[in-house]
Amino acid sequence: MIEVRELTKRYGIKYAVENVSFSVGEGEVLGLLGPNGAGKSTIMNIITGYLSATDGTVTIGGYDILEHPAKAKSQIGYLPEQPPLYLDMTVEEYLHFCFRLKKLKGNKKQHIAEVCEKVGIEDVFGRKIGNLSRGYRQRVGLAQALLGSPPILILDEPTVGLDPRQITDIRNLIRELGKQHTVILSSHILSELQAICPRVAVIHQGHIIADGSPHTLAHSMAGGNRLYARIDGPKEPVRRMLEQIAGVEKVEELGPREGAFEWAIYPKEGVDVRRPLFFGLSRNRWPLLSLQDNEMSLEEIFLALTAQAEEQARQQALNEQASEEEDGDASEEDVEQEEELP
Ligand code: ADP
Ligand code: MG
Repeated sequence: MIEVRELTKRYGIKYAVENVSFSVGEGEVLGLLGPNGAGKSTIMNIITGYLSATDGTVTIGGYDILEHPAKAKSQIGYLPEQPPLYLDMTVEEYLHFCFRLKKLKGNKKQHIAEVCEKVGIEDVFGRKIGNLSRGYRQRVGLAQALLGSPPILILDEPTVGLDPRQITDIRNLIRELGKQHTVILSSHILSELQAICPRVAVIHQGHIIADGSPHTLAHSMAGGNRLYARIDGPKEPVRRMLEQIAGVEKVEELGPREGAFEWAIYPKEGVDVRRPLFFGLSRNRWPLLSLQDNEMSLEEIFLALTAQAEEQARQQALNEQASEEEDGDASEEDVEQEEELP
């Protein structure tokens, strides 16, 4: 549905995005996770045709965004970081205006009413956008993106600046929309993407440094699966029992806790040993006080990945510096800022 190939965006000598490739299949919901300045908005602005790339290609449903901009864009509903709202228009006026702007056909009133119902703004339909809360404005922005029922939605940090209640509402709304649309959603909030996206691409300094389900990312980062079990039973017999469970590769005793022992259990790749573990313990009448897997939170994954990437960049910089030493000063400090706004 969306193909991004070797995308690069440079401002002066500064790379906002460098050699980024990914594809999003029909019906997929992809989260772009990255801190401020990582390049999320740049990628989204290029995908939606608001910004030109320095290099690389984007195709939307088979249409190149540069060669067939109208066909490509008509499949996308975009909610930019700063929603393009006109504060002195009423919601009704604004959506009618957007309907015309998008050159949509069909029953305007009915379509707008359907979209308003979807995002829950029927009760502010006649109000001026400038008088609405941020949460409602964001919904109006979403309504604008949904006009024309585009199969793809691109949402840039849709919950920024909202209060917790509004955040929950918008998240639920996006989750619902994800059932009918292909969605790319960006955020610097880790838990947000974990809650909504089956797939997350981690962006750091213009590069994708990881791409997968939060679950796979967690496992690949944590170096395999592992269970922590607190078991109220005699040390050596418990150890023997654990080691005899089919699929258990290794068992480690981590020390006494609460009059019981804490164990680390390493299963073989892809084997779930929780059920035999439970029955083994229960046969021996050794109570299980707690059981936890070591899956990392998205937050931990993110910190680990960015630390890795920074270390690599540092090493690379050191190497380059070493090889440039003879050329004298490399004063490339002043980055030229090139204004390029939609
Ligand atoms: P994000 O959305 O992840 O916060 P952006 O895509 O907005 O990141 O920005 C990526 C990088 O590109 C940042 O370092 C930012 O400073 C730089 N950048 C963005 N727009 C411009 C511009 N018009 N001129 C120069 N640099 C820019
Ligand atoms: Mg941004």
